[in-house]
Amino acid sequence: MKALEIEGLEKTYRNGFVALKGIDLSVEEGDFFALLGPNGAGKSTTIGIITSLVDKTGGSVRVFGADVSKDPMEARRCIGLVPQEFNFNQFEPVGEIITNQAGYYGVEPQIARERSEHYLKKLGLWEKRHGSARNLSGGMKRRLMIARALTHEPKLLILDEPTAGVDIELRRSMWAFLREVNAEGTTIILTTHYLEEAESLCRNIAIIDQGEIIENTSMRTLLTQL
Ligand code: ADP
Ligand code: ADP
Repeated sequence: MKALEIEGLEKTYRNGFVALKGIDLSVEEGDFFALLGPNGAGKSTTIGIITSLVDKTGGSVRVFGADVSKDPMEARRCIGLVPQEFNFNQFEPVGEIITNQAGYYGVEPQIARERSEHYLKKLGLWEKRHGSARNLSGGMKRRLMIARALTHEPKLLILDEPTAGVDIELRRSMWAFLREVNAEGTTIILTTHYLEEAESLCRNIAIIDQGEIIENTSMRTLLTQL
């Protein structure tokens, strides 16, 4: 089964800017996949279309077989998204941010609390669960979004620049956590502009530049070419 199949994906923003020029991408179930590219390359646009937050202007996207245009709810159910920007209510208690999101996906309250406890503990946020998210450090907010993305047990976890602005020690512990999540069977796609991050985590990689895929190969093959 393919976790993601993108064919001829195009995006022209309303101001006429062509952000994606017909890209093809395919990610196997179980993969740990990097979409690498400089700022402005089109990574967030691609993620936005996969998660139905941005409308495409051409091509097709399937998530575990579900077409994002024809069956957006099914596609979204498969996905846990960790966006680049903090997009939770900063005044809400940390624990509630997690359990509310799970509720939105139809997870039973008791199960939502169990999963929330599990991930908050794993990510070092359990002691913070009663406090509002506004009091968390940047790295903690990032981890909060990771916990939130996992409580409905998505088949595909997508992280947009997950360690941007995170110090090296925390980055390494987040990497270890993500490796574990992947080892348990969750397909992971991340965007990054650090080759080191892609190298450390990912088996396969696509490099995007100015709205075009300029390389799509295994990490191992890429590294032997450098
Ligand atoms: P990346 O995530 O790789 O940094 P983005 O997908 O955010 O790249 O952006 C790709 C290009 O599209 C950039 O040049 C950006 O300025 C442009 N862009 C992004 N959003 C919009 C928008 N809403 N309207 C017009 N142009 C946009
Ligand atoms: P208390 O234990 O302080 O009497 P509650 O258990 O009702 O109160 O929860 C208070 C806050 O802690 C709520 O914001 C709730 O979402 C959060 N919380 C409690 N248990 C969990 C849990 N297992 N996972 C996540 N958040 C939790």
